[in-house]
Amino acid sequence: MPAPAGAAALRWRGAQQPAAAADADGGSWEAFEAIAAAAAFDYPSTSSSGSDSYSSSDSDSAPAQVGAAAAAHDAAVAAVAGTAGGAPPRRPARQRAASLLPYELTPEHYRDNVYIHHWYRPPGGFRKSLASLFRLHNETGNVWTHLLGFIIFIFLTAATVHLKPAPLRLGADALAHLEHKLVTYGKSNLLELVQAVESWEHRVVSFTGSQLGALEDRLSAIGRHNLQELLQLSDAVRAAGQTGWQELSGVGEKISAEISNLESAVQSALATALEAKWPVSRWPIYVFTAGAMICLLTSAVCHLFGCCAAHVTAVMWRFDYAGIAVLIVASFFPPVHFGFLCAPHLRLFYLATTTLLGLCTLCVTLMSAFQRPEFQTYRALLFVSLGLWGIVPMLHGWFLNGGQPEVTRALLLDLLMGAIYIGGAVVYAARFPERLKPGAFDVAFHSHQLFHVAVVIAALIHYKAVRILLAWRDASGGCALSGPPPPLAAPLAA
Ligand SMILES: [Zn+2]
Repeated sequence: MPAPAGAAALRWRGAQQPAAAADADGGSWEAFEAIAAAAAFDYPSTSSSGSDSYSSSDSDSAPAQVGAAAAAHDAAVAAVAGTAGGAPPRRPARQRAASLLPYELTPEHYRDNVYIHHWYRPPGGFRKSLASLFRLHNETGNVWTHLLGFIIFIFLTAATVHLKPAPLRLGADALAHLEHKLVTYGKSNLLELVQAVESWEHRVVSFTGSQLGALEDRLSAIGRHNLQELLQLSDAVRAAGQTGWQELSGVGEKISAEISNLESAVQSALATALEAKWPVSRWPIYVFTAGAMICLLTSAVCHLFGCCAAHVTAVMWRFDYAGIAVLIVASFFPPVHFGFLCAPHLRLFYLATTTLLGLCTLCVTLMSAFQRPEFQTYRALLFVSLGLWGIVPMLHGWFLNGGQPEVTRALLLDLLMGAIYIGGAVVYAARFPERLKPGAFDVAFHSHQLFHVAVVIAALIHYKAVRILLAWRDASGGCALSGPPPPLAAPLAA
């Protein structure tokens, strides 16, 4: 005789009550019971066939179907318990201690991967989900891989803020540019040429002179301005021992700081003379690191609170995918900005098209219909396509910059980054390696964790490529020193 829909839940409650009483975390079981009663669990497709898809629970199912579901449920509970009767199920000791669930007893909205058999957290609210950050379950690795990635990117952003720009590359190109400028000036007006030279000389001298003066003042102020005193200091240091060495190292730091300021002033003076932009602006790098931090933190939060109520979980996963789209789009900014620095129209075109494509991906990602498991492969393909679009501006930029060694190195690193992203997406879609040995990779090394690690490694490789491009543009003074100087026939100034 077919059982009513609530009967399965009631039987389940009867079977679980002793175990629940034994659990320290009984509140989770109560919440789970409430959800189980409301959802009237059905297990047929997942527990019996083991296929990747699952059937949703319809409240208006035919009585026969409900009976089949109840029977399948009993079978599942019996399988978990390892007994044929209504005895309490025996979960592994560590899982029981941590109140963790096997796949068969998890709510429908948890069931994303049929090859992950155990270590599911019971449904819980905000506080219990937060507390699970420091507990071992099948999402611990997913949370921490991206949380650590987020922390790494905080440090990388701070490192970029404090990064000293690469010095201007004063090779033959720079000298040719200077010479060209002087000759062009000379052709138009000899007096202007003299003024230009004087003005340049004055600027260099005033920059360096003031800094040299500052150094001299500083040395005078600390009373070490003549050789005799330095020698006396050396003797004093030897006599004073450790204290003296500390004093000397303090002087050394001050001098090296002054020299650093002096170098920077000389670079600025040269940049002014060459009409170069030095250092180049770094905002595209911050766009990238911000995108990476948004993606990694969103993902960590989604995995941490993924065991909340069904409606919360559904929204969480949409934002998880949205974060990946943000990372992909943000990754475009530095290579496109630096690669097309001297071609503003192309730069605008690539940044606009990529942002537009990313916004379309975001819209599709946030649509509820797109969240069903059967769309998993298409979701992965959409993200891979957005990533593959990146090859177009990368190759175009490489040709445009005449195969500069730095651009080539950055391109190779970005190709490696792309390969790692695609490899991670393939592993994720294929559910490898847990597909080969279901239940063996529940806590560590399952496909989603490998995908997370791939995302962090790929983002770090991209950061390295971006730093190479930044150093190249700084050394080139923006666009000023890139390429040979224009022919002399072309007038530079009116
Ligand atoms: Zn994830």
